[in-house]
Amino acid sequence: MSVLFELPQPAVPVVGEDALYPVRRVFCVGRNYAAHAREMGSDPSREPPFYFAKSPDSLVPGGGAIPYPPATANLHHEVELVVALGAAVFRATPEQASKAVFGHAIGLDMTRRDLQFAARDKGRPWDLGKSFEFSAPITPIRRGAAPILAGAITLEVNGEIRQRGDVADMIWSVPEVIAHLSQYYHLGLGDLIYTGTPDGVSAVRPGDRLVGRIDGLGELAVAIAEPA
Ligand code: MN
Repeated sequence: MSVLFELPQPAVPVVGEDALYPVRRVFCVGRNYAAHAREMGSDPSREPPFYFAKSPDSLVPGGGAIPYPPATANLHHEVELVVALGAAVFRATPEQASKAVFGHAIGLDMTRRDLQFAARDKGRPWDLGKSFEFSAPITPIRRGAAPILAGAITLEVNGEIRQRGDVADMIWSVPEVIAHLSQYYHLGLGDLIYTGTPDGVSAVRPGDRLVGRIDGLGELAVAIAEPA
């Protein structure tokens, strides 16, 4: 059986390899660093993680220039550790979940904060604030079966540090996030999880240059361009 039209398969490069990692789903964790939860106006006590999703076609592999998106006056950066899964995992313990890791990347969860807050305040879904074109820049995936549990994570804008944290400060670690999410989905190959951002999120404008870094994963450079 063929399809009526061929569409590109969303995919992300893998460090040192020619073949791409095909993406099926992009999950994102909300408020996984206590200081960021506080700056968003919530209590960071250890309640269960919660999630939203981005469309796989919002990925921007390798970063580069992204247009300022429509319908917002408050575009924010959120630098995040991204974990890519390489094996099936369902109703797993954190120990079992660790074995499903394919590798990691640096991601930006770009957010139309005004639209997200408007939705949040009315109890509506976050899609317009979170899942939009060019909203998910990502570096190539670095293979490595061991979950990343610690390491500096930073984001600078025009050379000035705005976000500075450590992956060890995550309320829910990579194995815990995978295990928890696997209670709700049959996770596996093609699933990316953006694991949340440290505090210091702020607005950016056309002309700004963003650089995200995580120890061991290099850097992700993004330039905000004029609206398309
Ligand atoms: Mn985020």
